[in-house]
Amino acid sequence: MNPTWVETELAAMPAGAVSLDCFPWNRRLTENVKAGHYKKTLELFQQMQEEGMIPDRFTFVPVLNACASLEALEEARHIHAQIIKSGYESDIYVGSSLVDMYAKCGHIEDARQVFDRIPTCDVVACNAMILGHVKCGQAERALELFQQMQSEGVEPVAITFVGVLNACASLMALEKGRQVHQQIRQCHFESNVFVASSLVDMYAKCGSIDDASYVFKRMPTRNVVVWSAMILGHVKCGQGQKALQLFQEMQHEGVEPNLVTFIGVLNACASIAALDEGRRVEEQIIQCGCNADAFVGNSLIDMYSKCGSIKDARRVFDTMSKRDVVAWNSMILGYVKCGQGHNALVLSRELQHEGVVADHVTFVGVLNACASVAALEEGRHIHKQIIQSGAESNIFVSNSLVDMYAKCGSIEDACKVFNNMSTRNVFAWTTMLGGYAMHGGGHEALGHFERMCQEGVEIDNITFVSLLSACSHAGLVDEGVHFFESTSLVYSVCAAVEHYACMVDLLGRAGCLDEAESLITTMPCEPSGSVWNALLGACRIYGNVEMGECIAKRVLESDPGNAAGYVLLSNIYAAAGKWDSSANVHRQRLERGVKKEPGRTWIEVNNEVHSFIVNDEEHPQISEIHAELKRLSVPMNNLGYVPDTRFVLHDVEEEEKVSRLCHHSEKLAIAFGLISTPPGTSLRIFKNLRVCGDCHTATKFISKIVGRVIIVRDANRFHHFENGLCSCQDYW
Ligand SMILES: [Zn+2]
Ligand SMILES: [Zn+2]
Repeated sequence: MNPTWVETELAAMPAGAVSLDCFPWNRRLTENVKAGHYKKTLELFQQMQEEGMIPDRFTFVPVLNACASLEALEEARHIHAQIIKSGYESDIYVGSSLVDMYAKCGHIEDARQVFDRIPTCDVVACNAMILGHVKCGQAERALELFQQMQSEGVEPVAITFVGVLNACASLMALEKGRQVHQQIRQCHFESNVFVASSLVDMYAKCGSIDDASYVFKRMPTRNVVVWSAMILGHVKCGQGQKALQLFQEMQHEGVEPNLVTFIGVLNACASIAALDEGRRVEEQIIQCGCNADAFVGNSLIDMYSKCGSIKDARRVFDTMSKRDVVAWNSMILGYVKCGQGHNALVLSRELQHEGVVADHVTFVGVLNACASVAALEEGRHIHKQIIQSGAESNIFVSNSLVDMYAKCGSIEDACKVFNNMSTRNVFAWTTMLGGYAMHGGGHEALGHFERMCQEGVEIDNITFVSLLSACSHAGLVDEGVHFFESTSLVYSVCAAVEHYACMVDLLGRAGCLDEAESLITTMPCEPSGSVWNALLGACRIYGNVEMGECIAKRVLESDPGNAAGYVLLSNIYAAAGKWDSSANVHRQRLERGVKKEPGRTWIEVNNEVHSFIVNDEEHPQISEIHAELKRLSVPMNNLGYVPDTRFVLHDVEEEEKVSRLCHHSEKLAIAFGLISTPPGTSLRIFKNLRVCGDCHTATKFISKIVGRVIIVRDANRFHHFENGLCSCQDYW
């Protein structure tokens, strides 16, 4: 690290100015401070006074330095009083030490008061004050003071430039930084290792990585601080690979990495998902004994979760001795990112249990987790905590609240939070629009979009995706076509692949298969899997085997890993009774090793999320669930329910098919909800894939028989089942 100005000054202290009586004491005090024995320094100071010595101006310098290092503010204030009594406060050495001490203890206003009382503007005091302002996050004041000292004719020294460059870095003031660099050249300080390091750091933090490299390459010797600055700078500029290369070079040159280096390298691994390299770095960290550091631990968790190895992230998390809120946040967000929202919620409860105070990031993470598994009750609970902590005014938190309520099926609550927001950015508006789209509220969505335009919100790509999908889900074909045609003309948004996918979906659902197909041929870019799948979905709905076959062939030839393509084609065949063809496609997918996401349904009961898969045998109450489904089948059949066995893909006996249908994860979750909640309670379930047609029909009957509202969120949208009907009007 850079030497503090005190260390520099101590070395340069004129021996002749020292009073003879105190001289041996002062020397011992100075030696102890230099050796880092701060407590011992203060003890000696006590001892010398007990022996009747009267401290002189040079006694106070090491003593205040010891206080600063120990952040012993109480002690320092006593000494300050003593200094005032003995008239040394305005002395340049003592005054500067006081400024330095207060700044290091974080009491910048006290520092400034002492500084302003020093009669002559001196470079030593100025340096202490500039560094103090930088340390306390007052970079502007540091730069003002730098200006002031120069106008008073005080020549800056190396340490002054270090402080000023740090100030520029923290303000990201690249132009000012360049000016200072010019001045450094003129003063011939460019070859000073501390100044050069600070230059590299400043350029790297300001995002000008080329300038940083230029200075870096010209440095005759490079210590770990400057290497780390270069590594972090490259990560910041999105050059993770180059950062890892620098790490190698640094070790080749025999420079040992420190904590900051490791954090930089882990960030680099995270940014380019370099899991193997990340593991090697962890080994090295353990060898150096740096793994106990909280920052390193947090970076490891972040790296592993961003590299997709949540198990490793959890291993690091579990072995950390001290876990701050950042560690909890990294772990919670890691679970959310890899689709384990359920585990994120379990962890968030542990966090509360351990009494860790949640911050904005925690709230955003937990709300995302609630949204991902549709845990509305848990979400409401978190909302209460957010209100209590006053975090509701944070725009990220309130955006996440809107998103959570919309995705958990309570569009009313989403609307309430949205209307209460004092400032709304395009993200909030679009989240709300997406909420309307998912709930099939086409006209609400259009009204909302109109309001957006009136209030002058800048509309982006994602806004348009939500708008088009709202039209699609509500069957508003003309409106959708109108908006699509005006994307680039009126709203200056370029039509992208996602917009075409929405339009193909919209036309396809409405039965305009030929129009949808010809729209694809007009695309300026290569149609993606999602575009073709939208058309395949339409072929399935309208039973168009011919078109479906033709498209699927083309899609699977160009993208044999498109799992949804196989499933849709297999469904198209099955729906047309072509069992052999359906089974063939199924087999083909397995042979090619293409895995589809297994269907899974979640339901939240009594603040606990239960998850089901098809033919689930794991759930502790599975026999009661089967009994409930059997009991329901009698009134269902009486009301005219006919199991739609087209949704069973296997060519088996009819009876077996009915029983398999019965064990779809949607039905298991609904039955569990019915037996676990009092009559009349609404049920909310969430399926990760599109809800199956037979389950959709069955749920309509169940809602009528049991007199309950059943809200199902699938991969596409919400279905509100009530009294035998669904809000989607069977159009989804
Ligand atoms: Zn089903
Ligand atoms: Zn529906």
